[in-house]
Amino acid sequence: MGVFIQNPPSQPPRLPNIEWTYSVVGRFFDFAPSNTSFITNIVNNHWITRGSIRILRTGDYFIFECQDPRDCDAILNRHTSVIDGKLMTFRSSFANQVPSSINFSLATIWVRIHNLPWRFLEHEWTAKILSHVGVVEVVEDTGPGLPHEAFLRAKILVDLTRPLIPGCFMPLDDGQVVWVYFRYEGVFKFCKQCGCVGHHTGHCPMSAYDVHHLIHRRFSEFEHDGLTLMFGPIETPLYTNLIRGLPDRFVYRNARVDLTRFVPAHDPYVFGERHV
Ligand SMILES: [Zn+2]
Repeated sequence: MGVFIQNPPSQPPRLPNIEWTYSVVGRFFDFAPSNTSFITNIVNNHWITRGSIRILRTGDYFIFECQDPRDCDAILNRHTSVIDGKLMTFRSSFANQVPSSINFSLATIWVRIHNLPWRFLEHEWTAKILSHVGVVEVVEDTGPGLPHEAFLRAKILVDLTRPLIPGCFMPLDDGQVVWVYFRYEGVFKFCKQCGCVGHHTGHCPMSAYDVHHLIHRRFSEFEHDGLTLMFGPIETPLYTNLIRGLPDRFVYRNARVDLTRFVPAHDPYVFGERHV
């Protein structure tokens, strides 16, 4: 039951005029969002864009209003970025949408898969193993032969509300078992208690009981995928700092973004439909 407001105010409140068609909304998956001036500085100095981008904030939501609609499409296509060492995901929106109804928890992350035996250092195995972690969008093309680095990378879509998978045991045909571990690029703030990103271990909001069930449920899904779970010695922590994929440096904490590399399928500038 609720009161129905029949007559909206005749004088709408004075809000900034936002061109929603050319805007995307970003939200940090982090307990402590960065401030607007820091984000604006990163966008102006570390992003390559076609036009200027105005950033407005309300609560935990950041509206990126693009002068050039192709920048808007490119941000949505990118889906996720790292600013100030925090993951931010982007969604399209419109003036009548309620911000809290938007799900920002899905993120695209580059994952490095380490410790693969020689003969598994190839695309098909990388995609097969990581398909249990998230939706594999692409495995990095390393050309013919062995990859330059002794690991492979793949971009996967993951749900950040769930614990990250730190790795898996891989049984080999000679009876050996190797631990294959995953490193997540762009993850700088990580909780070793619940396995989730966006907060440090000391600030985990979950009780030990809830953590146990959360992780148990996540790993149960592995078993439903037909994988056999193997656990290490009881005193070995499940989560270590190895989950972080990149050194903690400014250049990695603030991803360099080139929005001009993305060309929309139907480019209004190419087709001459839009003139500025
Ligand atoms: Zn936690």
